[in-house]
Amino acid sequence: MSRVIGIDLGTTNSCVAVLDDKGVRVLAGHDGERTTPSWVTYAADNTVTVGARARRQAVTNATSTVYGAKRLVGRKVNAEDVAAFARVAPFRIVAAPNGDAWVRINGAPISPQEVAAHILRRMRAIAEEALGEPVTRAVVTVPAYFDDAQRQATRDAGQIAGVDVIRILNEPTAAALAYGAHRVGEGRRMIAVFDLGGGTFDISIMSVENGIFEVLATGGDSALGGEDWDRRLQERLVDEVFDKHRVDLTQIPMAMSRLRDACENAKKALSEVPTTPLHLPFLANDQHGAAINYERELTRVEVEAQTKDLLSRLEAPCLRAMADAGLQASDIEEVLLVGGMTRWPAVQEVVERLFGRKPSKGANPDEVVALGAAAYAGILAGEADDAALLDVTPHDIGIRVGDSGFAVVLPRNSMLPVRARRLFATTSPDQKFVSIELYQGESTDVMKNRKLGQVVLDDLPPGPPGSVRVELVMTVDVESILSVTAREMKSGRESSVTIRPSGGLSQREIVEIITRRRQEHSSMTRLPTGVTGVTADSGGVRTTTREIIAPKVPGKPPGEE
Ligand code: AMP
Repeated sequence: MSRVIGIDLGTTNSCVAVLDDKGVRVLAGHDGERTTPSWVTYAADNTVTVGARARRQAVTNATSTVYGAKRLVGRKVNAEDVAAFARVAPFRIVAAPNGDAWVRINGAPISPQEVAAHILRRMRAIAEEALGEPVTRAVVTVPAYFDDAQRQATRDAGQIAGVDVIRILNEPTAAALAYGAHRVGEGRRMIAVFDLGGGTFDISIMSVENGIFEVLATGGDSALGGEDWDRRLQERLVDEVFDKHRVDLTQIPMAMSRLRDACENAKKALSEVPTTPLHLPFLANDQHGAAINYERELTRVEVEAQTKDLLSRLEAPCLRAMADAGLQASDIEEVLLVGGMTRWPAVQEVVERLFGRKPSKGANPDEVVALGAAAYAGILAGEADDAALLDVTPHDIGIRVGDSGFAVVLPRNSMLPVRARRLFATTSPDQKFVSIELYQGESTDVMKNRKLGQVVLDDLPPGPPGSVRVELVMTVDVESILSVTAREMKSGRESSVTIRPSGGLSQREIVEIITRRRQEHSSMTRLPTGVTGVTADSGGVRTTTREIIAPKVPGKPPGEE
């Protein structure tokens, strides 16, 4: 069996790691880069470039360079945050026939799954080169708040990339695993995972007990990240150049690109030292044609003063997440830092103030999620024997009762596979049929939960209320596929439905994309521009908002009374 790699498919950067006899480690590309920008650029002939080179090309090829594809996978184009992203993204975000958010590049609609597949393919290539052997299987991480459609879309991206995504893992769980949270003693411990990356901020409150990782609450700001700090700095320098030389750098893409890189590098330097030089020779020409050689000293204090408002936006989501989890700061035993921007000292100070304790900094925040994914992959592949893995249903699954009630049939955290049986009786005289609507969620108000489908059993035998009895059997298999059967007890007549998760693309479309890719690869011809119909699906049941990574210790198995 080939090894299983762990991939952190990030909004801004991606990272790949493995667990082998050398331990758990990040795999670097041939250029030595340990993280890969999640950017994909399409040339006019649709040749695809991924990573740092794609990011650099964004300056000259902005409309054909896609970043933030993770914000789009499994999403509808009219979702609020998707629409907000579409307003700022220089490439076009369009609606697929089923309303999913796609991108339009060189006139052709492309699903974000296909864009993400290019990144996954690159991560796989990095791993194969570093390990010197083929790799086909991976654990891929996603934010804890990703719903079924987003998780399935991520799996579909894997399939398009030729990567068998054997498990989708929550990013905070991966981080907690990498920090070794499952090895820490007895009792239930509360952990906060504070993740500030390049473009997004996520806060998760988790509990860890006897190897059971449960995400209790999530929050964040999908439009806040390290790039906002860079942009703020860049705007300031653009103003300075304008005041001094009357030259608008925003009209000079190459100058803006250099300035952006310089600002980011200065920010990174300033998280270590209080001052750093900015040196940008020949940035542009002034009105008289003379070169502008931009040079100045930048201080951390100055950057902090300009970004106070960004910092303050970190507070409310943390307080809300703690409240949602029913916890106070003093209940949280450990705060784990994830994401490169958590290296910024002022960010760490905010964390310390909000949670009343210093955050743990034992791991590299850019790499910790990939390392956790690799550790999990190692457990799955049997290379780490200090834990066993169990999948559970993340949400209650049940049926609508009355107008808006919700009756739970399969409680959340049921270990897979799971089966439950309920008996119902008719409520009206000579009732002709029963229609059972299936929902997933935690609310007692059924309308706040997500509808999965319905089963209708008709031609019921006549009789007074309560005389006809219907048995409902619900099962979720290890692949998270939900099957529901309703059976009339006397005649044995039955009706059933099977619900699989859907990420928006049908299997046929995925196969078409793979075939098209293969053809392109062999002939290097242009991409066809047509899109075929996209199926709309109700989605399904995924199993990963709560993960059990149970250490092999004696005692009752998790979930058992
Ligand atoms: P991530 O998405 O986790 O890779 O985080 C990337 C973000 O972290 C980018 O905005 C980087 O500029 C930022 N970052 C990386 N290293 C540092 C550092 N040493 N100090 C401040 N920000 C950093």
